[in-house]
Order: sequence, then C-alpha cells, then structure tokens
Amino acid sequence: MRTFSNFVNGRPVDARSTFESKNPANGETLGLVPHSTREQADAAVAAAREAQPAWAARSDADRQAVLIKVADKLRDNAELLATWITREQGKPLGGVGPEQVPGARFEAWACEAWTRVPASLELPPEVVFEDETRRDEVHRKPLGVIAAIAPWNWPLMIAIWQIVPSLRAGNAVVIKPSEYTSIGTLEMVRLMNEVLPPGVLNTVTGAGEVGAWLVDNPGVNKVMFTGSGATGAKITAAASKHLTPTTLELGGNDPAIVLPGAPIKAMAMNLFWSAFLNQGQTCACIKRLYVHESQHDALVAELAQLALAMPMGDGMQPDIAMGPVQNRMQFDKVSRLVDRARSDGATIVCGGEPMPGPGLFYPLTLVTDITDGAPLVDEEQFGPALPIIRYRDIDDAIARANRGDAGLGASVWTSDVKQAKAIAQRLEAGSVWINHHGAVHPMVPFGGAKRSGWGVEFGIEGLKALTRPHVISVKK
Ligand code: NAD
Repeated sequence: MRTFSNFVNGRPVDARSTFESKNPANGETLGLVPHSTREQADAAVAAAREAQPAWAARSDADRQAVLIKVADKLRDNAELLATWITREQGKPLGGVGPEQVPGARFEAWACEAWTRVPASLELPPEVVFEDETRRDEVHRKPLGVIAAIAPWNWPLMIAIWQIVPSLRAGNAVVIKPSEYTSIGTLEMVRLMNEVLPPGVLNTVTGAGEVGAWLVDNPGVNKVMFTGSGATGAKITAAASKHLTPTTLELGGNDPAIVLPGAPIKAMAMNLFWSAFLNQGQTCACIKRLYVHESQHDALVAELAQLALAMPMGDGMQPDIAMGPVQNRMQFDKVSRLVDRARSDGATIVCGGEPMPGPGLFYPLTLVTDITDGAPLVDEEQFGPALPIIRYRDIDDAIARANRGDAGLGASVWTSDVKQAKAIAQRLEAGSVWINHHGAVHPMVPFGGAKRSGWGVEFGIEGLKALTRPHVISVKK
C-alpha cells in the first residue's frame, strides 16, 4: 500500500503515523495518508515564514511567470489528477472542459484555468488623493503566511482557489486538505513544487485538530477556510487569539425561483445540473427549488425524466454521469432528511432509497408536496436530494427564499431578465444568478451573505483580500 507524503520546504516529509483514504464507489483503500503531528504542522508554518520574504521580493512579472509554469504542470498532468479526484472524491471522470458532464476532468481543467487567470492579474499602486500639498498612494503588500483549510467536495479546485491568489500576491501557503480527500491534493502539491521555489507551498494532513494547530500558530497571518459553518465558527473563535484575519466560505442553502412563463423545457437540463452537480455536493448548488404553480408539475416531470436517465456508478467506468456520495456521514444525512420528508407526508417522485453498499450510492431524489419548515428544505442537504416547492405569489417566494441563515447563492429563472434583475435585488445572497446557478468565474468575486461566510475570493477583490494596503504619503 503506497504511503503519500506531505511536502514541506519542497521536500517530502516522513510520516510518523498514517490513516487510510477510501474510494467511496467501492470502499477500497486507495493509499495511506500521513497524520501530521503538531511539531510537523509548526515546521510547515516555519518553512513558509522562511521562504515568504524572498518570494515576495521577486518582481510581479517573475511570480507570474512561475505561476504560468505551474498552470502548464497542471495541464500536463490533468489526467493523473482527474483520476485521483474520481477515485477519492467520487465524481465521474466526465468530459474535458466546461461544456461536458462536469466531472473530475472538468475539475482538473478548472485548476489550470484558475491558475492562469489569477497569474495574469495586476495590482498596481493607486493614487487615492492628490492636490498641491500632498500625494497619497496605496500600494499592496502580501500578508505573509496563509493557512488554507479545504473541504472534500471539490478538493483540488478549492485548494487552487486558496493557493494561487495567495502566491500571486506574494504570500507563502500551508494547506490542509480534508481528511477524506488528501491524496489528490498531495499529488497536486508535489507537482506544483516541481516548479515553485521550496517552502512557498507546504502541506499538512489529518483531521480537524491539524487544521486547528495551524489556526493556533502565531506565525500564520491569515486563515482561508472553506467548509461548514460549525467549523467556521470554531476557526473564528480560535483565530481571535492572535487577531488572525479569516476568509470564510461556508455552507449555503441556495434557493432557485422559477417564474411563471419560464421556458422550462429549454431550461430543465441546466436546472438539473445546477442542483445535482457533483451529486449535489457543491456549496453553490440549487438546494431548494421554488416553482410557480402554473409550471410545477411540468417541470417536475422534466427533471424526473433526466434524473432517471442519468447513469450512476463508479466514475472510472465510461459513460457514468453520477458518482457516489463522498462519505458515510453525508450519506446518512441525505438518507435521514429524505426519510423524514417521506414520514411527514411529502411525495418522493424518484429515488429515496439508499442503494446497497459497499459503494455510497444514493439515487437522484426529487421530493414534492413539501414546504418551508421541513428539515429537507431548511437544512443544507449537500447531496442528491432536491425539494421542489410550489408557490403562487412571487413576493411569497422571495420571502421564503430569504428565510434562514444561509446566503451563499440564489437564482431566478425566466425569459424576463428585467423582472429577474428586480427580484435579484431583493434576494439575500452573495451571488444571484439569472438563468444559471453556481456559475463562478475566476474574474468575478464570490462570497457569502449572512452566515454563509465573510470575505470574497476571485478577481481583483479576492486578490486584494490576500494583501494589506500600504500607504505612501508625500508632502509636496
Ligand atoms: P468541514 O467544516 O467538516 O471541514 C472542512 C475542513 O476543516 C476539513 O479540512 C477539516 O479537517 C477542517 N477542520 C475541521 N475542524 C476544524 C477545526 N476545529 N479547526 C480547523 N480546521 C478544522 O466541512 P466539509 O464537510 O469538508 O465541507 C462541506 C461544507 O463545506 C458544506 O457546508 C459546504 O457547503 C461547504 N462549502 C462551502 C464552499 C464555499 O465556497 N462557500 C465551497 C465548498 C464547500
């Protein structure tokens, strides 16, 4: 059984003890992952601190050139990385590029794209004030060491979202992947270290306590966290000890509102993938679908037809569109929410019964005759079960969409974009998409409203969040 290594200061680190990483499609052990010790976590932060000043001192053009080489590495090894994503996380390999079934090859491709775009961004000094007496410029300085803590659903892509803008801005990084999906990240970091200078990108692995050690380390200058709200709250409390700033990308419970007259036949496929991308294990997936009563039954029929036709299985097999749920905890959560909906009288249109193991397969499930207040509607299911709620009045649908603490994304589906924009203004979410959902882009800021987090990633705003303003003021 292969034991994978962490990378610190550009070199593999010997594991003191290990844990198994499992394939959710069949339960087989894929390899052994080091359980970093506290001493190793501290050594990783120390290596990052050591390497960071020289990295920051390089010119922008130099750092950009190195990151372009990183992007080339990711491109040249995309199939290797995609294979690890499928075997470890579960999403099917799928096609290449954004137009195909968005599986592991899409994720590997997105890693490359999300490296090239931040690499190309510039943060020139801004003159914010000038008159005959003074001139004030804002320059941007890196923060230092970024601790990146990642989840298991898009393990490589989210790691890249954290790593590349941090490096572009001149920071060094220590990343801790999820304990459920560490191997793919270790492989990706190994490849990136072939072109990065030693110490600017380091890893630690293990369960939550290893992440907590990073947060507790006074040598960390910012924590970038993507994961659940419960963990985000713990991290915020711990980070306050050293006044360490955080970016929190937390869970969502995204509503989508389908307006009367929307061309539902044409939109059904897009709505389907917006809910079931990565078996619904996506932060900004549609998690509650509000459909006007005039179209409710017709849209449910369209979605059921698609759900029943999607081949589910081990994503390494050809022509599979849906993989397993990634872990037992998530599988049990989806089962519990659907069982509760059924026992409370909701209609299970399709799916609803877990498949026998050893793979963690839960069928695509549509639930109707359900409304707000039901746990499947109010809680983030983060899996392949979608509640569809009938509404009559648009103001009522907006009020329902705004219920609860989550505010990551929302969407409006219609042929009347003017009306949709007016509705979008009233939706409490970090992003409101019209006629698509979860359509993140490396140039467009992304972050949560309400308890879906704070701070943003992507684009110039995301890059600025990894720097501090440095004012130079000249008296004339
Ligand atoms: P999680 O909070 O359980 O774990 C995330 C990471 O935090 C893991 O690496 C884990 O080991 C680590 N961790 C756990 N306890 C910790 C502690 N006390 N201190 C430091 N680190 C700790 O989340 P998950 O189950 O891996 O991910 C699913 C959740 O992530 C969902 O709620 C989903 O919506 C959310 N998510 C949000 C976004 C976004 O951009 N907003 C993106 C993807 C996923």
